[in-house]
Amino acid sequence: MKTESSIQRIGLFGGTFNPVHLGHTMVVRAAVEELALNRLFIIPAARSPFKPEDEPAPGAARLEWLRLAFEDEPRCEIDAQEIERAGVSYTIDTVRDYAARFPEAELFYLIGADHVPTLPEWREATALADAVTFVVVPRPGELETGVAEFPPSFRGTVLRGKPVAVSASDLRERLRAGESIENFVPPAVAAALKVEHSY
Ligand code: ATP
Repeated sequence: MKTESSIQRIGLFGGTFNPVHLGHTMVVRAAVEELALNRLFIIPAARSPFKPEDEPAPGAARLEWLRLAFEDEPRCEIDAQEIERAGVSYTIDTVRDYAARFPEAELFYLIGADHVPTLPEWREATALADAVTFVVVPRPGELETGVAEFPPSFRGTVLRGKPVAVSASDLRERLRAGESIENFVPPAVAAALKVEHSY
């Protein structure tokens, strides 16, 4: 029989990561610690269902920046499956892959607080709600004001780690304007973006 402590706790962190930044690295550290995760997989989307018209930087570049950002982070792995599947990336497809690979694990799926009210519209929402525990990542200020309640049938918890005020869209604007991004991304990512930033 599996005891409580022998059940693996696996975190899944999806997003566009266009590019990865210190807001993401904070989320990863807080999630591993607060949720006592055994492993955390970071899964860049080929295309977000919420921004299907947007063409992010090439998948290979976003994967490389993620590798640089998390290479020294214990328990973290980068998963290229959504980039390899290509097209719009649906969370349920990725979650099913993990459920098949880790049938006994508890799966935690990290999402931004702004996505919580939209959960019932996600593809195969009922199956998704059954398969994972959601973990809401507050944006700056939201810990104080409180985050939206989960819609019925979705279950989850809220990350307590202190949010960092940075977004990938701000960074893309700074890069286009030729402004420095060093304070907002890990040093190795800043160096890589200097060579080729794709925006
Ligand atoms: P964009 O500005 O292009 O929309 P983003 O910075 O929000 O991008 P995503 O790749 O969409 O980055 O983020 C992946 C996940 O990380 C999402 O769940 C998002 O809510 C969360 N996230 C992004 N930035 C932060 C931040 N500064 N603090 C906490 N969570 C964040």
